[in-house]
Amino acid sequence: MDKRINEMDEKVDKYLKEIEENDKNEDDEPEITNMKEKIETMRKRINELKEIQKKMNGKDLNEISLTDPDAKLMKTRTGIDVCYNAQISVDDKYHLIVDYDVVNDPTDCSSMVPMAMNAREILKTNDLEALADKGYFSADNIKTLSDEKIDAFISEPKHGISGKKGIPAPEFHESKFTYNVKNDTYMCPQGNEMHFFGKLKRGDKTYAVYTTTACTTCPVRSRCTKSVTGRKISRWEHQALLDEHRKKILLNGSGRMKKRKALVEHPFGTVKRALNSGYTLLKGKKKVSGEFGLIALAYNMKRFVNIKIEENMTENMQVLHENRQSLCGSSLSIA
Ligand code: SF4
Repeated sequence: MDKRINEMDEKVDKYLKEIEENDKNEDDEPEITNMKEKIETMRKRINELKEIQKKMNGKDLNEISLTDPDAKLMKTRTGIDVCYNAQISVDDKYHLIVDYDVVNDPTDCSSMVPMAMNAREILKTNDLEALADKGYFSADNIKTLSDEKIDAFISEPKHGISGKKGIPAPEFHESKFTYNVKNDTYMCPQGNEMHFFGKLKRGDKTYAVYTTTACTTCPVRSRCTKSVTGRKISRWEHQALLDEHRKKILLNGSGRMKKRKALVEHPFGTVKRALNSGYTLLKGKKKVSGEFGLIALAYNMKRFVNIKIEENMTENMQVLHENRQSLCGSSLSIA
């Protein structure tokens, strides 16, 4: 942006100089005055943009919304828009919104732990199962929720092909290497055992690294690794939790994931379609949070009325059924 503003500034200087030159040579005064006004407007705009740029640099921002400085550019179903990210947790019995939050982080990942912990506190339960889609998946979330004794089912994102020239190829992705707990070794897709080589620190995480000398003569090496020292597999110190979670999802996850979709689609669908609240009227994170709180309350009230109607209908149906039975009984006894 800096570069673009400076370029614009240089162009305006150039135009001004040209106009001043023409001014000396020509007597077409009204046209030149008009041009000068236009350039003055451009100059003002450039100064405004420079001020915005200064603010952004000061706060280390790479985007700013002039309408609502708290909102951020986010991907929506219809493209990219200036948005807030509304988070909700929904109970699976009544489909009521248990808790909500409005964040300006376009990703969902950082909302997983606080939303699950708040839901546990609100529902006053120590037996909480938290279902979420792949946007909420991270190794740290799995670890924290496990520490908090919250039973998490979070879809794991599919691994793409990494590196240039698609190496490793999908069949040599890390997930295709099998860990053997007993021997603390990995088995690579070619059936070679990989042994502990050393430890590695990445950020705040520690990994154990596994290698095999078999890479030297491996016929499929070019599809597995580009490294001159052969393929390395790094295992996070809490990887066992991730493996356990993956296994749990494979065994018992699919039904829960379908249920999750229905659970969150219900309130969001109702909020957007029935309550016509797919957008907010207020600006600023605090006000938008308040507005979304009212939207969630309206949804819960609507849902509560429906639950009561359903309950009354069931009771009425039961009474009707019982009456019909006694009527049948009576008629039978008359007969
Ligand atoms: S390159 Fe090494 S790790 Fe990869 S398949 Fe071959 S032997 Fe196994």
